[in-house]
Amino acid sequence: MDQNGRTASLDPESWDDLRAQGHRMLDDMIDNLAGLRERPLWQAPTREARARYRAELPRAPGALADAHAQFMADCAPYGSGNRHPGFMGWVQGGGTGVGMLAEMLAGGLNANLGGRDHMPIEVERQVVAWMAQLFGFPADASGIFLTGTSLANLCAVMIARDRALGVEVRSVGVRDPGVAAYASRAVHACIVRAMDMTGLGTDRLRLIETDADGRIVPAALEAAIAADRAAGLKPFLVVGSAGTVDIGAVDDLDALADIAAREGATFHVDGALGALGVLSPAVAPKLKGIERADSLALDFHKLGQAPYDAGLLLVRDAAAHKRTFSYGDAPYLRHSERGLAGGEFWPCDFGPDLSRGFRALKVWFTLKTYGLDALGAVIGQACDLARMLEARIAASGELELLAPVSLNIVCFGYKGADNAAIAADLQEAGRVAPSTTTLGGRTAIRAAIVNHRTGPEDIEALVDGVLALGRAQAARQAGRG
Ligand SMILES: *Cc1c(COP(=O)(O)O)cnc(C)c1O
Repeated sequence: MDQNGRTASLDPESWDDLRAQGHRMLDDMIDNLAGLRERPLWQAPTREARARYRAELPRAPGALADAHAQFMADCAPYGSGNRHPGFMGWVQGGGTGVGMLAEMLAGGLNANLGGRDHMPIEVERQVVAWMAQLFGFPADASGIFLTGTSLANLCAVMIARDRALGVEVRSVGVRDPGVAAYASRAVHACIVRAMDMTGLGTDRLRLIETDADGRIVPAALEAAIAADRAAGLKPFLVVGSAGTVDIGAVDDLDALADIAAREGATFHVDGALGALGVLSPAVAPKLKGIERADSLALDFHKLGQAPYDAGLLLVRDAAAHKRTFSYGDAPYLRHSERGLAGGEFWPCDFGPDLSRGFRALKVWFTLKTYGLDALGAVIGQACDLARMLEARIAASGELELLAPVSLNIVCFGYKGADNAAIAADLQEAGRVAPSTTTLGGRTAIRAAIVNHRTGPEDIEALVDGVLALGRAQAARQAGRG
């Protein structure tokens, strides 16, 4: 307290002023979302804008309206563009207005979902139960929200490790693991990193050859397992990809589930990209076998259209899940029968975080307001647009398809051109933004269609842009030749 008896509380002197300013902030952001198409997808931050974020420590207070104005002027115009309908780079979701509003409510509630007896944990458990049902997991499966699939995959590898080596590994550490894991050579790098972070070692991950469609060759997986068995190693984990990050290939999940079951290994599915395809009647058949996974990682911030960040880990055996993460009996985290320290499910016993935000709320709002069928339609549309792009490439003598299209990702190029330069030129022009990848030693333009706002006109703009830039490169080469 100061000498006038005022406390140091950060609440406003006038709630009405906060309300009025809050309404202006909300209006600005709704206008900003509504006007996405009228502005460039991306522009490099100006030198001045960057400089204003290298300022002195702000010791004295400033007006909220001024901070808001600086945000609108210097930050909001220079985002990465993933909300824009022309954004097709990497694999990024566009978010929704509903997701934004739910984030505001979650911020207002400021819930800590590490544990204890409160309703936000019930909301998270509701979403987990819905996902267990959707993916054919048992009703008592466990699950938690995490930042994304990178973390969910890491947690899944930890659970598989403890199952294979015994939970003592948590105290004695990994000595000579004597185990090996298997995944497609197209598996996401975070699985490789998970082998590193769990102490098992990346050398114990076998990257299995893929077929022409980019799917694991089951016979090659069996051969790798047999070789490891002969060398005295125990197969402990088979990872299936429900959509590889490069080209969107879906492994034969049923075949992998059979092999994992036969070997007594954990079967984990990385569903970051494609798992929510079960919502689309056209995509769901490709995912058959996902219901047999011991654990599943997925991202709501990609095809699920929820704002960042929102990854989920679903685990068939809740007891095994808890054995890997339980806090033991730290006295300050003791559960009790009654009172605030009650509650039967403490997420801190099921993952690496103690304090956790209310990620589940934006997903609950997304599912509840749009409904599963509308989300399925968005996912089906993304795959339809990918096929439309594939057809435009096939019909053009100048373009070439560089990988088969299975879901929502198309890798292609302008014949004989520098595709990396085309992608960078497109990004700088600010109408459409693909990214690139390397396939068979060649740079491909990679269009991952994830955003619900992307439509046929954006595919046309991409094709027109690549053709124009490819032709310009060819003309320059001819001029020099
Ligand atoms: C995006 C992605 C990841 C990583 O997920 P994050 O949410 O970015 O951590 C892992 N695997 C695949 C197949 C992905 O597409």
